[in-house]
Amino acid sequence: MTLRLRAACALFVMFVCLTTVSALAQQSPASSNATNEMPSVTTVPTAAQPSPNFNVDAATEAYLAQIPASSRARSDAYFEGGYWLILWDFLYGAVISLLLLNLRWSAMMRDLAERLTRFKPLQTWIYWIEYSILTFVLGAPLAIYEGYTRERQYGLATQTFGPWAWDQTKGLLIGIVLGGLLVMALFGIVRRLPRTWWLWGAIFTMVFFVFTVLIAPVYLQPIFNKITRLNDPKITQPILSMARANAIDAKDVYQIDASRQTTRMSANVSGFGQTMRITLNDNLLRRGSPEEIQAVMGHEMGHYVLNHIYKDLLLFFPIVIVVGFALLKWSLDWCLERWGERWQIRGIGDTAIVPLVVLVLSIFGFVMTPVFNTHIRTEEREADMYGLNASRRPDGFAQAAIHLGEYRKMRPGPIEEFLFYDHPSGYGRIHRAMQWKAENQMLFEATPANLPTGSAQP
Ligand SMILES: [Zn+2]
Repeated sequence: MTLRLRAACALFVMFVCLTTVSALAQQSPASSNATNEMPSVTTVPTAAQPSPNFNVDAATEAYLAQIPASSRARSDAYFEGGYWLILWDFLYGAVISLLLLNLRWSAMMRDLAERLTRFKPLQTWIYWIEYSILTFVLGAPLAIYEGYTRERQYGLATQTFGPWAWDQTKGLLIGIVLGGLLVMALFGIVRRLPRTWWLWGAIFTMVFFVFTVLIAPVYLQPIFNKITRLNDPKITQPILSMARANAIDAKDVYQIDASRQTTRMSANVSGFGQTMRITLNDNLLRRGSPEEIQAVMGHEMGHYVLNHIYKDLLLFFPIVIVVGFALLKWSLDWCLERWGERWQIRGIGDTAIVPLVVLVLSIFGFVMTPVFNTHIRTEEREADMYGLNASRRPDGFAQAAIHLGEYRKMRPGPIEEFLFYDHPSGYGRIHRAMQWKAENQMLFEATPANLPTGSAQP
């Protein structure tokens, strides 16, 4: 239900700062081609109407039956293609790193930086700029296919090539500045603390990560999109009422013009402390029914009330980052002993080592994909259940799951879900919503005022 910024930021710090392809710009491209749109479910199917014989499986199947076979085939193909892209991204990136090392381009970039200045931190930053631009160019063919061509093929993109490429360039510039700060600091730490750098490096990276998550909603997101206060009381009143009922101190709801890049519907919770906010994207506002929007907002409030951002910042990511740095400490020494001379890398404090660092971290990230996915998916499921209880909109939730099925396969096998899904499958979500409805039928029978009416499309 969310393209969560914190997940994007995690990747941002672990990989993107080190590979320069900004995950913030990753909100993908797109063209407003409506062919991929799922039906706007406006009626609660008969089998999902409250009745003494309400059957959870039958209600779930009735919702799934509203998706035309062609739409399902299309979103299955799109999503399954994404599995392969995980592999191609990894291999393509690995080949780039190995080329930079074996052709000694990395060493040459370091030599150039050293010729330009004698000041060490500046040398590091110059190297980082060279590295960022070179990998941006070398990575372009796959990035264009994945982020532009393929998104347009599936009708998910709304941008033409020019604006899309400009977004990518903005991501590159952010990577050069923010990633540059991180890399300069980390090399400073490595050079001063040759034995314990991995621990201090991990601590600094965590602090930097927290800083990035904190500033992202206010300073980074607006670089790509316009974020405004949502001023339609018809939409904000029920949301703010739900917020008050759940002890959330929110005065405003925000909207983001995601349709600039994509047709995807989504919402997210981002930032923390003073910058924490709940944002709906304009595709959801435009195409979602009122109860669908409320169901989605209930889910987002679940992330908030269940403190998912804090749990991630203080528990999950610190573990990942420390393990990542420990792995670096061990593997960099091992690799340099064998190939350091051939790659002309003088030691761990030499910037020419960057492609090797990126390679090691990308292997780590690739292997850990199911673990990361399962962590996020577990939180998403918690937020789902919280959202159902808070919004009491199981049918709105089912509608949202179908809309999200435009870019996610609805019904994966269990192993497939474990490996590749960072959100529960659409089938699982609808099934749990119908289970919730079955257990709460009294809410839907009594007075007409209680009835989620099915939903008039705005
Ligand atoms: Zn979520």
